[in-house]
Amino acid sequence: MPTTLVRNGTVVTARETTLADVLIEGSRIEAVLPGISPPPGATVIDATGTYVIPGGIDAHTHLDMPFGGTTSADDFETGTRAAAFGGTTTIVDFAIQARGTRMRDALDIWWKKAEGRACVDYGLHMIVTDLGNAGLEDMDDMVREGVASFKLFMAYPNVLMVDDATIFKALSRTAKNGALICMHAENGSVIDVIVARALAEGKTAPIYHALTRPPRAEAEAVHRAIAMSEIAGAPVYIVHLSSEDALNEVREARDRGVPAFAETCPQYLLLSIEELERPNFEGAKYVFTPPLRPKEHQPKLWDGLRDDHLQVVSTDHCPFCFKEQKELGKNDFSKIPNGGPGVEHRLSLIYSGGVHGGKFSANRFVQLISTAPAKLFGLYPRKGTIAVGSDADIVIFDPNAEQVISAKTHHMRIDYSMYEGMRVKGVTKTVLSRGRVIIDNGAFTGKPGAGEFLRRQTYSGAH
Ligand SMILES: [Zn+2]
Repeated sequence: MPTTLVRNGTVVTARETTLADVLIEGSRIEAVLPGISPPPGATVIDATGTYVIPGGIDAHTHLDMPFGGTTSADDFETGTRAAAFGGTTTIVDFAIQARGTRMRDALDIWWKKAEGRACVDYGLHMIVTDLGNAGLEDMDDMVREGVASFKLFMAYPNVLMVDDATIFKALSRTAKNGALICMHAENGSVIDVIVARALAEGKTAPIYHALTRPPRAEAEAVHRAIAMSEIAGAPVYIVHLSSEDALNEVREARDRGVPAFAETCPQYLLLSIEELERPNFEGAKYVFTPPLRPKEHQPKLWDGLRDDHLQVVSTDHCPFCFKEQKELGKNDFSKIPNGGPGVEHRLSLIYSGGVHGGKFSANRFVQLISTAPAKLFGLYPRKGTIAVGSDADIVIFDPNAEQVISAKTHHMRIDYSMYEGMRVKGVTKTVLSRGRVIIDNGAFTGKPGAGEFLRRQTYSGAH
């Protein structure tokens, strides 16, 4: 078993900041104490002047995902490698149950996609499109396989959307089996009418993607999802929350003691609707759902993260290249594949904007990008913290180093960056995944296939 000592760093967890060394035996953390002398034969990593934080957990990625007649550009190899460069050592991706099939079929398909490719550990959520006859039993079966969370869509009628009865049945099942329901909350039926109206009026440019999906359509669905979860007696987790309107619904519920949780993503914190008005169809680079909102929503979301009305920052990484993929919607915004790249830069963007921006502490940062998703998605304390017995998923993070984000230098397999030219302060230097160095001072030293499937527990920390 290899022994590694991370020395002289500042260990930052969700709870505390301490000067300590971290001793790693094999894949696990053996000790976290000041002044550990290196055991014979140990590899020593000097972390002087930097933070030693638990590996990032991105609970929302879509690698190798079919959508709108194409497939997201990163597969499990390129996507998890890019994640590693940015300090993310665990992703939770989504398997999609095709209508009329069993959830196990989808799980097999996604296991194959990841097999031999993943460079970091990964879990899977199951997207439920059809409860059919055996769906509720299938949900229990998935929980036994470690797929302890399900995503349901209130948007995309005829593709992924499920009706309220299905949502309520699924929520009720999780009240018994302990899994967590993740909701894509937008009123898809209303949105489709607005989209058809816009297209009939000849409004085909990318900006209409945002203008046809109003914040109220998100808030309405968040409200409905939470109400159904209350009736079912189950917690609920709202994915990619994008607007003040939707945030108010979550806050109101949490103030009443309802176990409602929500994530937001860097794009909603840092970018706004004007991006979709870029000339030469470049607005298509910013087409994803929910859409970017007017700027005034951004400070509300940052406040939500600070005040724990929002618990998690994930990316919804779902890259489609500008050439050939986004271009599918050149004459019709509704045909632009929905999704944007982001898995690589989450830590830097949130550290830069959140901690250097004076919004919250480094401890809160760690909680948002690692500890809270670990707890909500049944990975804690194996993941999400630096403690004796936890997996040695460790990031040496330089809080004062700067980096300019660009498609020329990023590692995601996509021909643009949503943050092109943006300067961030706070950079991942070295990354360990279960004790193995996979990023060494900015160079990839991991290997495809080393990432393991994580059998997750039911929501360990949701209550
Ligand atoms: Zn998504």
